[in-house]
Amino acid sequence: MSAAREIRYDEKGLVPVVAQDASTGEVLMLAYASREAVEKTLSSGEAHYYSRSREEIWRKGETSGNTQKVVEVRLDCDGDALLYRVEPAGPACHTGERSCFFTSLAGSDGEPPDLGKTLTRLAGTIAGRSREMPEGSYTAKLLDRGTGYTAQKVGEEAVEVVVAALEGEKLAEETADLLYHLLVLLEGRGVGVEEVARVLDERHR
Ligand SMILES: [Zn+2]
Repeated sequence: MSAAREIRYDEKGLVPVVAQDASTGEVLMLAYASREAVEKTLSSGEAHYYSRSREEIWRKGETSGNTQKVVEVRLDCDGDALLYRVEPAGPACHTGERSCFFTSLAGSDGEPPDLGKTLTRLAGTIAGRSREMPEGSYTAKLLDRGTGYTAQKVGEEAVEVVVAALEGEKLAEETADLLYHLLVLLEGRGVGVEEVARVLDERHR
């Protein structure tokens, strides 16, 4: 319960809580919690919030049955917001939508591209090429020629990134080429993107 003491509640004694699906990462809802709601969440493992309109604590799903099992409670950097990572038993939203954030105001699908997800997906595709080695696949060709060749390509692509940066042109395209070749290099050496992510996260913690 020591973490609960580091939470900075606002003047009304509340803290905003973002609920996120623990397995998919999807943001489900934003609500508020009082100290008591947070303590009940921590002790019961079920998401509790504070309703500002009803002015009372509520356990998510107590009437709808759409409970949220709390896998983890995280505190933000300033201590003034919480993240509940949950396993939802049903839709988070009273409208029946999985997430309260189903209305898009901007962007094609309401979500800007996420480099991490893109790299993970691309690494998966490259791993598939490595297993199947389909005829005519550039990735398969790189993997077939081995680490020395791919490493040389990475060097060339890195130089192209440098040139693009100095000329102020096509930097995004050249960076994409470099990242792709880096992923092929990692695949060839059996190093997963999650391993790289772990190193980055540890350095920037
Ligand atoms: Zn909602």
